[in-house]
Amino acid sequence: MSIAPPSTVALGNRFASEFPELAVPWQAAEAPDPRLLVLDESLAAELGLDPGWLRGPDGVRLLVGAAVPDGATPVAQAYAGHQFGGFVPRLGDGRALLLGELVDAGGNVRDLHLKGSGRTPFARGGDGLAAVAPMLREFVVSRAMHALGIPTTRSLAVVATGRTVRRETPLPGAVLARVAAGHLRVGSFQYARAAGDADLLRRLADHAIDRHHRGAAGAERPYLALFEAVIAAQAALVARWMLVGFVHGVMNTDNMTISGETIDYGPCAFLEAFDPAAVYSSIDHAGRYAYGNQPAIAEWNLARLAESLLPLFHDDQERAVALAVESLGGFRTRYDAAWSAGMRAKLGLAGDPDRAVVSPLIEELPALLLASHVDHTAFFRALAGAARGDAEPVRRLFIDLAAIDDWVARWRALGPNPDAMDRVNPVYVPRNHLVEEALAAAVEGDLDPLGRLLTAVADPYDERPGLDRYAAPAPEDFGRYVTYCGT
Ligand code: AMP
Ligand code: MG
Repeated sequence: MSIAPPSTVALGNRFASEFPELAVPWQAAEAPDPRLLVLDESLAAELGLDPGWLRGPDGVRLLVGAAVPDGATPVAQAYAGHQFGGFVPRLGDGRALLLGELVDAGGNVRDLHLKGSGRTPFARGGDGLAAVAPMLREFVVSRAMHALGIPTTRSLAVVATGRTVRRETPLPGAVLARVAAGHLRVGSFQYARAAGDADLLRRLADHAIDRHHRGAAGAERPYLALFEAVIAAQAALVARWMLVGFVHGVMNTDNMTISGETIDYGPCAFLEAFDPAAVYSSIDHAGRYAYGNQPAIAEWNLARLAESLLPLFHDDQERAVALAVESLGGFRTRYDAAWSAGMRAKLGLAGDPDRAVVSPLIEELPALLLASHVDHTAFFRALAGAARGDAEPVRRLFIDLAAIDDWVARWRALGPNPDAMDRVNPVYVPRNHLVEEALAAAVEGDLDPLGRLLTAVADPYDERPGLDRYAAPAPEDFGRYVTYCGT
């Protein structure tokens, strides 16, 4: 596809103009010496933007918010949120801006958004800035998630600003350009509800239906149908996280989208050894957002969404609550169905196998993996080899050989399909030690390790020669992995 270089980019201001209560017009901070570090060229093409133009001075000015296209109104969005269970009525984009909406090559409306673009009225004590490494982290992990087929916000580019950011040490600053189907969060609705503005709440719900869940418009109770559509999207999303071993790390209600896209790659990590209690975030001492808690937390967040939407469900408060409770009950059913279907696919048993035989196999697996500290990604990928007749790579991952031999024998008797397994069990995920290695090199000016990691994770199911180290678990001396928020 050839795309003419635009003199500017057609960016709408629908959110800014429809929701003045939730949008503070704002300008990005100046970037003294902007330098493009990475660009997702295929995403640029999807958006109808010429990658060559984006790499040039005008494109880079757009990507740091220095050039605002005609008709666009960059805004900081207001939202509330429960952070680690505590309600904060006014959070909002402290260091981010919605530049506006654009229509992609497929006719879909997408948000173009900047992160790390300077202090806004929502910045509280923060400096409004972001460092190169965490923005590249969001770029790599979101790229991997998209390639895995998991709904996610996308990263278009990371531009180093030439400004120093003060953290524990001085660090190079950067701006991430992010693309999403939309930036509405559970916290957006919490903000409208807390403001006590019934008209705003209704308009926001109508907007969410129009942009994300059109099917709800024709339902008998459109707002309840919106709630159920978000439940369905989040149940499917979190099931995908669990199946691939993704730990989001900070599932506050301001970090849960209405669109069903994964958002906010702060303290996230991919599971190493399987463990429901796995926590990587430096601040999650109680393990609220541990790997195994994610479905329950999603459900808790959706209950907060229900509370926000109650006035739209029914005029009678008791009736409204009853409707909300009934709808929320659908989360577990949907989650369990998505997870079970996904697990059968991971085990190569996607057909319609005998549930009475498959279910115990699925139920026994977590304890087996946990007992032997088995690497989640390596296990499922190696299992296809066992289906082909070579169980040794799987056996090497276990301490308790008798238990896994018995399990594999019963599983193989069901005739698993190894080729189908290879299409759902990735060989390459952004392993924590590889991400850290690539980011450390990038901060020192060497972008090659980052490029190689992106090559591996952008095509996660296709095992390629020369990429062995991208498929291998972390070396022992990597130690316990710790991630950080808001850096
Ligand atoms: P997060 O943990 O990234 O979801 O951020 C939570 C809230 O803190 C959001 O309102 C962010 O905009 C805000 N925030 C995080 N880092 C900064 C920063 N360096 N400066 C200003 N606001 C920030
Ligand atoms: Mg956030």
